[in-house]
Amino acid sequence: MAEPVEIAKYNLTEDQEKKEILRQYRSLLRALKPKLKPGDKELVRTAFEIAADAHKTMRRKSGEPYITHPLAVAMICVEEIGLGVRSSICALLHDTVEDTDVTLEDVEREFGSEIARIIDGLTKISNVVDANTTQQAENFKKILLTLTDDPRVILIKLADRLHNMRTLDSMKTEKQLKISSETVYVYAPLAHRMGLYNIKTEMEDLAMKYLEPEAYREIAQKLAETKRERTRFINEFIRPIKDKLEQGNFNFEIYGRPKSIHSIWNKMKKKGVSFEEVYDLFAIRIILDSPPEKEKEDCWKVYSMITDEYNPSPERLRDWLSNPKANGYEALHTTVMGPQGKWVEVQIRTKRMNEIAEKGLAAHWKYKEGSGEEGRFEQWFQQIREALNNQDSNSLDFLQDFKTSFLTEEIYVYTPRGDVKMLPTGATALDFAFSVHSMVGSKCIGAKVNHKLVPIGHKLRSGDQIEIITSAKQKPTEDWLNLVVTAKAKTKIKDALKEEKRKIADEGKYLLQRKLEQMGVAFNQHNIDELVTHYKLPSPLELYYKIAIKTIDLKDLKDFQVMGDRIVPPKPVKLEPKEEETLKSGNKKDAELIIFGESSDRIVYNLAACCKPIPGDDVFGFVTTGKGLTIHRTNCPNAAKLLANYGHRVVKTKWVKNKEISFLTGIKIKGLDDVGVVSKITNLISGELRINISALTIEAKEGVFEGNIKLFVHDKDELENLVTRIKNLPGIESVDRYDTENG
Ligand code: MN
Repeated sequence: MAEPVEIAKYNLTEDQEKKEILRQYRSLLRALKPKLKPGDKELVRTAFEIAADAHKTMRRKSGEPYITHPLAVAMICVEEIGLGVRSSICALLHDTVEDTDVTLEDVEREFGSEIARIIDGLTKISNVVDANTTQQAENFKKILLTLTDDPRVILIKLADRLHNMRTLDSMKTEKQLKISSETVYVYAPLAHRMGLYNIKTEMEDLAMKYLEPEAYREIAQKLAETKRERTRFINEFIRPIKDKLEQGNFNFEIYGRPKSIHSIWNKMKKKGVSFEEVYDLFAIRIILDSPPEKEKEDCWKVYSMITDEYNPSPERLRDWLSNPKANGYEALHTTVMGPQGKWVEVQIRTKRMNEIAEKGLAAHWKYKEGSGEEGRFEQWFQQIREALNNQDSNSLDFLQDFKTSFLTEEIYVYTPRGDVKMLPTGATALDFAFSVHSMVGSKCIGAKVNHKLVPIGHKLRSGDQIEIITSAKQKPTEDWLNLVVTAKAKTKIKDALKEEKRKIADEGKYLLQRKLEQMGVAFNQHNIDELVTHYKLPSPLELYYKIAIKTIDLKDLKDFQVMGDRIVPPKPVKLEPKEEETLKSGNKKDAELIIFGESSDRIVYNLAACCKPIPGDDVFGFVTTGKGLTIHRTNCPNAAKLLANYGHRVVKTKWVKNKEISFLTGIKIKGLDDVGVVSKITNLISGELRINISALTIEAKEGVFEGNIKLFVHDKDELENLVTRIKNLPGIESVDRYDTENG
């Protein structure tokens, strides 16, 4: 990768630096060469000169001259995304309007309105990291608006983010965490949805390197160690297929491709298995050079050749030839039983499909012309536009809603008449009903899926045919929000609930009016405001509503004094503190943690119940309202969301060793059931190592046992030592730490 080269650059003389910048500029021109039309070269040169001049006094955190960043971003746009001249010009200029004296007018005068508009879009969305939550949601909305306006904005933004991730090493830890989290939370899914598979994968791997450094290093090392063995296996697997393809006169490429570290890690976590047990560390890829009219036929021919040689697993056939993914991905995937009884995934695609798989949207456009296909992206953009128009502008759930409805994988389902509808994975019968029409949604009482009756929350699967059953009496309720994943359904349900609430509130307003009259005071703005403030409510509507549903008892108004036509509230009522986090963690002592920042004072903190950090873990502090600081592990399941959404509330934290306080943690042990295994384990823990056990359960089934032990340790070193010692006992298969309450 680029890293060693960058380190060397620190020591360049001014002259050498200039040469290096020119070298990068020339290689950009070389990459653009096939796309240059008359006059383009001069435009690129002008853009480069303006950018170089505007940034001339600036340097990156790594010490390099700033202009190397726009140059690298432009290069990614051309080489890795497949964009052209105009996008490169925008990439070169992308930070000028934001950070230098260059104005949007300057850009427009020099390059015209099209480029100025893209730069404007890029400038608007450049400050996502440090914003607070509301601004964050707003900013993300801006990203999406510019996306539907001109998708090149987001493609250049992705290139910008990728380069920042590649050079994240020189940033402070705190920034690394924030930027990495935001990348996995927003940008990687966006890249995936735009069909930029390689960029998505690299972003996830780079983010993991900072968020879960240990797991990352461990897997990377194991991959390196097993490389030779893997290559031998791949060659053995490929040989007979290669022969067949050659006999069949195919023009093809075949190779084994390692899966990303991040995807291997995901599989390990999801299935609870070790690195050694992940069967698909790589996939075999076959790329055919087929003419357009024979693509599908050729792919299936190759499929049949492979399955003649190796036995396929029927559940693992994926046909994205007939139904491409919404991000444009087309291919045929199968998993077959290879030599040594190992499952191997084989991906079959043509050159055209491969380019779409790697360069996504940009390649898609290139091939779309003349193919007669109505663009999937255009459909997607249309859906996004609709969602944005319907969106309540202050909704903080927006990011989450958007992610689940637009950035996840999709399924195909059918209407009773056989029309295809595309929904995100996890969509329910109710989502389907709302996708048909909001009236069908709000009247939905159930559905028939493949002719069988199911409840409205039934999760749909690809290929299902759905008929919605409605009733005129039905209306949406609060818990419907938990039954849907699409933004459209959520918005419509919220609208209906709001409408309903307004009706109920009218009733409460009437009751309040009468009560105030009885007290002999006016029903006026002043008195209403007093009550709203007194009960700490956001609006009069909420007050009326709470009165109507009797959460607020009007009898309590007797505590108010009456002065003329005004009411005067009694002393403030005590409200229960609102908690953002559940704090069940046993330890609340304030010693062994130092907060780095403006001051290194010791601060009150709590350990998050969701991930139960112990000293030695990589952690960050999260500022909660009224509760001081909550400490999470950087690999906590909630971390990415917290860091991406509330980055401004994150504080860098580090442990200081303290041998006096113990922390509750848990380990899961699996092994062969052997008489005395329990006493061997407990002897080791409490006898030899003198660690306190808080709870222990052991279950044995068919010769295999699984034990869960909760125990108190001082820090991670102690825990790791314990894990190693248990692993060395005879018959022990695996020992893993677990974090959750119910884990
Ligand atoms: Mn930038």
